[in-house]
Parts: sequence; C-alpha cells; structure tokens
Amino acid sequence: MKKQVDVLVIGAGPAGSIAAAIIHRAGFSVQVVEKMKFPRFVIGESLLPRCMEALEEAGLLDAVKAKGFQRKDGAKFVMDGNICDFNFSNQYTHGWQWTWQVPRADFDKTLADECERMGVSVNYETEVIDIKINDDHSIITVKDITGNTDTIRARFIVDGSGYGRVIPKLFGLERPSSMPPRKAVFCHITDPKRDQAFEPNRIVVYVHNPKTWIWVIPFSNGNTSVGYVGDPEFFEQYKGTLKEQYLALLAAEPELADRFENCEMVWDEPKTLQGWSSTTDAFFGKGFVLTGNVTEFLDPVFSSGVTLASVSAQMAANLVIRHLNGEEVNWKDEYMAPMAKGVDVFRTYVNGWYDGSLFNIFFAPEPDLEIRGQICSVLAGYVWDESNPFVARHEKNVRTLSNFLAAKKALA
Ligand SMILES: Cc1cc2nc3c(=O)[nH]c(=O)nc-3n(C[C@H](O)[C@H](O)[C@H](O)COP(=O)(O)OP(=O)(O)OC[C@H]3O[C@@H](n4cnc5c(N)ncnc54)[C@H](O)[C@@H]3O)c2cc1C
Repeated sequence: MKKQVDVLVIGAGPAGSIAAAIIHRAGFSVQVVEKMKFPRFVIGESLLPRCMEALEEAGLLDAVKAKGFQRKDGAKFVMDGNICDFNFSNQYTHGWQWTWQVPRADFDKTLADECERMGVSVNYETEVIDIKINDDHSIITVKDITGNTDTIRARFIVDGSGYGRVIPKLFGLERPSSMPPRKAVFCHITDPKRDQAFEPNRIVVYVHNPKTWIWVIPFSNGNTSVGYVGDPEFFEQYKGTLKEQYLALLAAEPELADRFENCEMVWDEPKTLQGWSSTTDAFFGKGFVLTGNVTEFLDPVFSSGVTLASVSAQMAANLVIRHLNGEEVNWKDEYMAPMAKGVDVFRTYVNGWYDGSLFNIFFAPEPDLEIRGQICSVLAGYVWDESNPFVARHEKNVRTLSNFLAAKKALA
C-alpha cells in the first residue's frame, strides 16, 4: 500500500523546512521530499530579521543559534565613497533587530536536520515528478536517484521547491516576470583583512555603476561571499576563464581590490546565475499551496528571498493546519493577498534601486532619522507593518521623497 501522509512538502529549503516543522508541531504527519543530497549549495546568504519570527514559530531557532553563524546587525550601502548605514536596532517596527549571514548549505542542512530530529520524515535524492489532484487527496509520484518511482498519498501539498517550481511547471501556472533578466557572478573567498577596517556584522552593498552592484557577505568561518549583479551585457567586457573574469571584477572596485588583493577562492571556480525572476498565476489551488521562490522572486538586492520564503511558509503552514482541521480557509484573502503585498513593497524598492531614485534617499547628506528608521524596517523585512508609511504607501512615498531630495540637491 502506498505511503499516506497528511501533508507532503516538496523541497527542504527554508520554505519547506519551516512549513514542515510548523505543521508537524500541530500534530499532523508530514513527508518532505528533497531532490538533492544535503548539504547542497544554494545562493541566498544574507537573511533579514523578520525571518527570525518564522524560525522561532517553527521551533528551529535554537538549532540555528547553536551553529554560531555570523550575526548580522544591518546593511551598509556605498556609492562613490558615500555611505548609507542601516542598523536594524534603529528601525521603526518593533521586531527582531538582528539576524545572520549564512552559508546556505550549512543553514539549510541545519533546518532540515532539526525537522528530522523533531520526527519529520525527509527523503533526500528523491524528486517529485507528477501530481494528480483528487477531491480530498492527491497522489504524488516521486523518483529516487536510482530511477525507482513510488507514489505517496497526501491530503495536502506544500510546494517549497524554490527554483524547481514543481507545481507551476506541472500545472502550467508559470508567468514571465516583469523584471528584466540580470546576471550574477560570485564566489566564496578568504578575507584575511576583514578585521582591519571592515565590520563583519553587516553586509555591504557597493554601487559599482548605477546598474551594477556588488554584495559582500562575511561568514563566521572567516570566508566572505562576494558577488557582482548587473545586466548581462555588463559582464561581456570581461574575457578569459570565469576565474579570470572574477578576479578582474574584484580588481575593478577600489575598496574590494585592496581588501581582497591576496584572497584565495574557496571554490574551484566562481559560479554564475542568470534570469532568476519568476512569478505564477496563483499562489494556491485545490489541495496545494505554493511557498517561497515558487510564488514570486524579484531580485537579490535587498536580501528578501529567504525572508519571503520563511514568512510565506509560516503563513501557509498555519492555514494548512486550519484546512486539515476542517475550517474554511479563504486562500485568496488570507494568503495570496498578504504575500503579494509583501512582494509589492519590495518591488517598489527594487525598482527604485535600479532606476536610481532610491539613491537620492539612501545617500541624502542630511537624512531624516524618522524616515530612515521606517525604511530600515522595510529592509529588515517588516513589509507587512501597515503603520509604517513606507510600507502602507510605499510607491507614493518613495517617489515623492526621492523627487523632493533630488530637487533639494539641485538647488543646493
Ligand atoms: C544571485 C542571487 C542572490 C541571492 N541572494 C539572496 C540573499 O542574500 N538573501 C536572501 O534572502 N535571498 C537571496 N536570494 C534568493 C534565494 O536564493 C531564494 O529566495 C531562497 O533560496 C528561496 O528559498 P526556498 O526555500 O523557496 O527555495 P530553495 O532554497 O531553492 O529550496 C528549494 C529546494 O527544493 C528542492 N527541489 C527542487 N525541485 C524539486 C523536486 N522536483 N522534488 C523535490 N525537491 C525539489 C531543491 O533541491 C531545493 O533544495 C538570492 C537569489 C539570487 C538569484
């Protein structure tokens, strides 16, 4: 007889593990199916404070704390020597004031291991290849690494398959993103000069040129993740092997050239990714809910990915529990609308970053500290706090403030 569970979770990334843990803790049987063997690499190393609430509710926070990951207290943005330093302790919303910078292979394994320790079954090297939705259950076909297939019967499915986008692909729900395709070239490198002048307890984002930026994310193991993000055409000027291109990129930004002059690459060669933005028609359907990157992913500039994955998993898991308990759930209003709202807030800031209007705000010579705190809360992931005017009227307020500061600068 095929295996029967209350909930099948696709993928053991942050979205999958958080959803699995919350549903399991409510007393339901959960099976996680994960395509890869852990630890496995995935990008997304800078977390936001809001994800701590989701980890806490899932009972996963202590396991992560025990790993001693690098504490993150804020994010610093640098353009032409001007510095805009957001410290999460100066934010408007009452919430977490810190989080972590994590090598995701270790972080995701920590979450998945803790799920297993709680009693959740996790099947690695097994992928979901087909789903048949019936009236009160679904039949999920999985294939293991040896090619053997099996079926699982589940009352509900949580899709946390990230870039795999299992249900949107199987059910034809994928939609092209409105974001233009961008490319990243990145590596983990040694960082012996870190303590001389650079604080490890924050990430630094450099504006290399108006359309190209660089992330610098120090880890507690002494290595630092450094990545360039820009239009694909920007990278065409760099020739040679990927390693040669990466070293030339490091040398092209003066502060990085100095800090990483004699660095060693931790990986055999840098990695590159392109065209990651995606979206779907709906975030739910009969018998399933989509979480994390499967819903919509915009852009890495404000480190929103893992936090949106965590919060969507937290929200979805609580609704799945209600559904399994026989309560009526309005998925559109209680799940899709708030998740889309959170993504929309980030969309305003991402668009403002790439069209340059946000630079007027970030690098204003005399920032208004109240407004700075409100924007800091957005960058901490508190994009559902409607009392924050830079959440509630995000588009209008960012545009108006940017125009005002640009005019002020022109008159100065
Ligand atoms: C260049 C770049 C930089 C980024 N930087 C950041 C950052 O600094 N901070 C941040 O928060 N986010 C960042 N992100 C975004 C981040 O990568 C994602 O938002 C995040 O990993 C989403 O988590 P998730 O749990 O939804 O999916 P994932 O972490 O992708 O996990 C999904 C899991 O599902 C598994 N899976 C896939 N298909 C199947 C299948 N058929 N069957 C079973 N399992 C399957 C996968 O193997 C994977 O383990 C960045 C993204 C990019 C492109």
